[in-house]
Amino acid sequence: MRLKYDFRPMEKSTRFTFGDQVRDNMFWTLASGVPIWSAWSVLYFYAAANGWVPKLDSVSASPTWFVLMFFVIRFWQSFHFYWIHRLIHVPWLFKHVHYLHHRNVNVGPWSGLSMHPVEHILYYSGVLIHFLLPSHPIHVLFHLFALNLGAVYSHSGFDKIILRDKKTMKAGSFHHQLHHRHFECNYGSEEIPLDRWYGSFHNGTSTASKRIRARKKLIFSRR
Ligand SMILES: [Zn+2]
Ligand SMILES: [Zn+2]
Repeated sequence: MRLKYDFRPMEKSTRFTFGDQVRDNMFWTLASGVPIWSAWSVLYFYAAANGWVPKLDSVSASPTWFVLMFFVIRFWQSFHFYWIHRLIHVPWLFKHVHYLHHRNVNVGPWSGLSMHPVEHILYYSGVLIHFLLPSHPIHVLFHLFALNLGAVYSHSGFDKIILRDKKTMKAGSFHHQLHHRHFECNYGSEEIPLDRWYGSFHNGTSTASKRIRARKKLIFSRR
């Protein structure tokens, strides 16, 4: 519990499917996330097998592009997530789609992919980049797995892993934890400072809380 962001346990509440946060989160991950993730994978590899998308057939064909593409994917994943996330915070989409993910105020690993099917379709749509840029199958698999494991990681609810009483590697995202607490801040991830540029950055201080509260008031007064 030393490095847990929120000490409260996962909730049992009628707000969640089956009245239980963990079961709810597992259900939406497995019943909606897995089939939609698989459908995007099948769509890409079917298109690639039929020659409908630009491909990098071997690493030796362009080693520089092969390496560079991993950085492009990381950057793109962050960029795409920010804008998709802003979109589903539009009041109508929030009310009908994104509310499901935000039932989780205190998050756990299963919360990361606990999304409405429409949100899953949008979230995984980042793989469309491989329909435009020449990709090796390893790029696409890296991207597809990063989308899943990244969400588990960013919702783990813990800051670091402790090994033999020493803090070792990072295990969660304080940035996104704050998004679940305050809603109208930190829409993106920390790789690209889009939240800083658009005034929605929250660093966990009380000054930032005040600023975000004022921002929330403004947003809700416009609705
Ligand atoms: Zn989240
Ligand atoms: Zn959100």
